[in-house]
Amino acid sequence: MSREQREPLKFEQGGDELNDRESVQTRRAHQFALCTFALAYDRATDGAEGVFDQALTNGLAAIVAHTWPGQEKDKQGPRVRSASQLLDVIENNTDKTGRIPHDHDAPVDDDAASRDPFDLPPYTVVDIATLRDSLTATQVIRHARDVDDDPTAALTEDHVKALMALDWHPALRSVRDVHMDRDWERDGRSDDAETDRAQRYYDALDDMEIERRRALDYTTLAQPTMLDDAIAIEGCPVCGACAFVARAHDGLRSEVGIGHCWVCSYERTGRIAEREMIDELLRRAAQ
Ligand SMILES: [Zn+2]
Repeated sequence: MSREQREPLKFEQGGDELNDRESVQTRRAHQFALCTFALAYDRATDGAEGVFDQALTNGLAAIVAHTWPGQEKDKQGPRVRSASQLLDVIENNTDKTGRIPHDHDAPVDDDAASRDPFDLPPYTVVDIATLRDSLTATQVIRHARDVDDDPTAALTEDHVKALMALDWHPALRSVRDVHMDRDWERDGRSDDAETDRAQRYYDALDDMEIERRRALDYTTLAQPTMLDDAIAIEGCPVCGACAFVARAHDGLRSEVGIGHCWVCSYERTGRIAEREMIDELLRRAAQ
């Protein structure tokens, strides 16, 4: 094979290596976010120590690999350093302050008072002492030592806060995405439950009562209040009656109503309306 033929191949390998590094970093950030979210928002308790260690190791590895490439790994082999060793790397590289500039070429302003208070800090502070303390707490439990007489054997709010603070680093910034995904899933489940409840209520109504409710003129019955944008009477997604009294609409396109069906009692909240509008916009974009 000639040199001319080999060179492009070398370039492609370099590209693959870069992509591999990025995908490893993405996986680390995702693992950090999933575990941190579970601890901070879902209040995970069972196995919290293992979840904490996984979050911390992945978060620190992503930050170290981003800031000092290669130092996230042990010199003896390809293994990623332990959380404790990664804290050593940060401590040694930051003169024990734990403060990591996001841009190595831009000096970090030490004088916070001279900064615009609305400017977010261009650095992440790793609370080395608190995170070391958290490792002591998790190791005691994970290694099945007797925890009854050991006051250090508990994860605290401060430990979780120190973990959350890592998310400010550009290599992470991923907890918010997990939060949004979980909210999205939770809203979907909540609307499914509301639809089932309204359907059961509707099925329990007497036929004559259903007929009476369907025959009413909701444009005159539903009186506007000071809080309403403008009342619209729409079709109900559960019972199909033209009795869904929308007192507001989604904030994206004002196409999905927020309110109640006066026949079957189905309620569509503002969050569900936003969700349905986003789904609809995605559907339109895919066509
Ligand atoms: Zn209905």
